[in-house]
Amino acid sequence: MGTFQLMPFDPLSVDPSEKKRVAYFYDSDVGNYAYGAGHPMKPHRIRMAHSLIMNYGLYKKMEIYRAKPATKQEMCQFHTDEYIDFLARVTPDNLDMFSKEQIKFNVGDDCPVFDGLFEYAAISGGGSMEGAARLNRGKCDIAINYAGGLHHAKKSEASGFCYLNDIVLGIIELLRYHPRVLYIDIDVHHGDGVEEAFYTTDRVMTCSFHKYGEFFPGTGELRDIGVGKGKHHAVNVPLRDGIDDATYKSIFEPVIKRIMDWYQPSAVVLQCGGDSLSGDRLGCFNLSIKGHANCVNYVKSFNIPMMVLGGGGYTMRNVSRTWTYETGLLNNTLLDPELPYNDYYEYYGPDYQLDVRPSNMHNANSPEYLSKILSQIFSNLENTRHTPSVQMNDVPHDLEDFGDEEEDTADAMDTKGGSQFARDNIIVPDNEFYDGDDKQKSKDISDHKDGETHPRPTMSIIPPDYYEKAAADMVKELENEES
Ligand SMILES: [Zn+2]
Repeated sequence: MGTFQLMPFDPLSVDPSEKKRVAYFYDSDVGNYAYGAGHPMKPHRIRMAHSLIMNYGLYKKMEIYRAKPATKQEMCQFHTDEYIDFLARVTPDNLDMFSKEQIKFNVGDDCPVFDGLFEYAAISGGGSMEGAARLNRGKCDIAINYAGGLHHAKKSEASGFCYLNDIVLGIIELLRYHPRVLYIDIDVHHGDGVEEAFYTTDRVMTCSFHKYGEFFPGTGELRDIGVGKGKHHAVNVPLRDGIDDATYKSIFEPVIKRIMDWYQPSAVVLQCGGDSLSGDRLGCFNLSIKGHANCVNYVKSFNIPMMVLGGGGYTMRNVSRTWTYETGLLNNTLLDPELPYNDYYEYYGPDYQLDVRPSNMHNANSPEYLSKILSQIFSNLENTRHTPSVQMNDVPHDLEDFGDEEEDTADAMDTKGGSQFARDNIIVPDNEFYDGDDKQKSKDISDHKDGETHPRPTMSIIPPDYYEKAAADMVKELENEES
């Protein structure tokens, strides 16, 4: 069992007759925030993706919402009060007054303090919480929030360009209704913040596919599988440089299939970090747009309530292309490879195509190496079938939505109705951790000891030569424009 077999990479297909209700969350303010000159993380890419998505006409197929930004109180369902207080108060102007806190909460180079930092974090959190709430209420089958997916943020610490862990907040909301939630992470970096938050519970299984070995954040080894009740409920797929479409598919699909069979989640959250694409400024994988999107299409094929989030992605034009293509797939549409005119059309030259091509880089993931990973993961998963503490019999059906669509749209525009609704209608017993009003309990989520299974090497997500390379790229781009 568990032998790696390279599958052919077939063209992606959709079923245009399948009707999914897709709720897409976008706040037009998000593109206005900036981490600072030259910083690789650019929230502008979310606005670029949005413009492309709209100009492909996808607004006709899905419901578009602007979520209410997450409140401090909502953020503290996972984060500590003092950390959130700090995020709310610190600005570039008063930074000097917080020299102790800067170290304590890890803000600085990777995670700079910039104007509107708190509002930016609140937008990403609001979209994921509201998306989860709408899934809980059965008001959509798929919720999309590309401003979310900020998987490195810790309970009391910023990390890897992430301040607020919108994913953990979204999953906490899903756990109000869902006995078991599966989190899948296809960012090139390990999904450490989400893994750590749920490391001791069997109600969330985390599964991260990432580059491992002298790479940020340094965690996510094959042998890190969770502790206590959470043992065997963290899955790590440590990969080497240069993985291509067929190889990624051939490891991703069997692992996800096996998890679906054994763990039987009732909801799934997919973090779609775009730094696993070929040509990413920080990444080192070799996925084309189709190799990345195949993961989205495959997870969608299980037909369980699904939340789709953004994440990393540092070559903006490729991230926006990919999230657009994937939004098409989620709406059962294969988009025209010719890009429509959009607000940022000039970014997509010289080809103006909806494509991200692989390079000829070496794939350092051998079939022997991948076989070893696969057989270890399969053998670990055999321990998960009977362990979930909430039995399948107790799974509540999602409440049916008897409201009309017009009313739904109106209330979704300006309320956090889902969350309130969920609070008033908790039907899953709060059997271990989750009671949003009981701060102490929910804090226990990530109170397991770091260190033994989670060495946290000090490492920067921005490699030392990044700024030099970025400057050289700029020169090259200017030269190309001139010629
Ligand atoms: Zn990343």
